Amino acid sequence: MTYTIQNFPFEKLNAKKLISFDADGTLVLSKTPMDAEMVAIFNKLLHSKYMVNIVSGGKYSIFFDNIISKITDDPNDLKSLTLSPTCGAKFFEFDNQWQESYKEELSEDQKKRIYAAFDYALKMANHQPQKLYGELIEDRGTQITFSAAGSTAPLEIKNKYDPDFSKRLIIKKYLDEKIGDLDVKVAGTTSIDVTKKGINKAYAMKKLMERFNLNMDEILFIGDALLEGGNDEPVSLMGIDSIEIKDVEETKTLINKMLSLTT
Ligand SMILES: [Mg+2]
Repeated sequence: MTYTIQNFPFEKLNAKKLISFDADGTLVLSKTPMDAEMVAIFNKLLHSKYMVNIVSGGKYSIFFDNIISKITDDPNDLKSLTLSPTCGAKFFEFDNQWQESYKEELSEDQKKRIYAAFDYALKMANHQPQKLYGELIEDRGTQITFSAAGSTAPLEIKNKYDPDFSKRLIIKKYLDEKIGDLDVKVAGTTSIDVTKKGINKAYAMKKLMERFNLNMDEILFIGDALLEGGNDEPVSLMGIDSIEIKDVEETKTLINKMLSLTT
């Protein structure tokens, strides 16, 4: 359910354990450092009873430059903060220093299924490279990559292989039959990449719930793009109480109000 600061039933705060914030347009103006007033308010929130999370499509280095380097360095307060860059494909927690808790690796089972799907798809598509340079299928942890002429093939060979994508689209069709639950993307000049599907802010919330053993009712999400098609929308669609703020100034008002209601 999506609320505004005007119609949010603040008694719901009693059940909340974790407050998650969008970054751009909510805590900071797009790609700029957190302002001094927000730093002071945000530090108070870190000192309160709530766990706090920031989730963004951006990379960790942007979190660090614009937020982490500005806010408190008190380790006791930072312990209640977690960061979910790239929509939770990575996750950082503070334990004397910022540590990456996980990367979104494919599971061993998914990898086995991907290799089996390639066996099937390459046979069905009758793929036979003239000569193979390096590896045909490479395990990159978060991604498995097929390179039609091998991972180290010279560019002149790669450029000739599939300029109109038609060969790889046929392979992809057979892959999708077997691993439709994963993301299969035709990429580069000779490649097909396979990754996990559906990494968005709802995914980041699911990871938080797993990590801290929370249910949806215990999380409050605050963002500026909860409307249809916005990058915060998946959070409210999954059923987490969400407040849409108009801008960074309104977020300040909201946090101050929450703090005034919290003992
Ligand atoms: Mg935003």
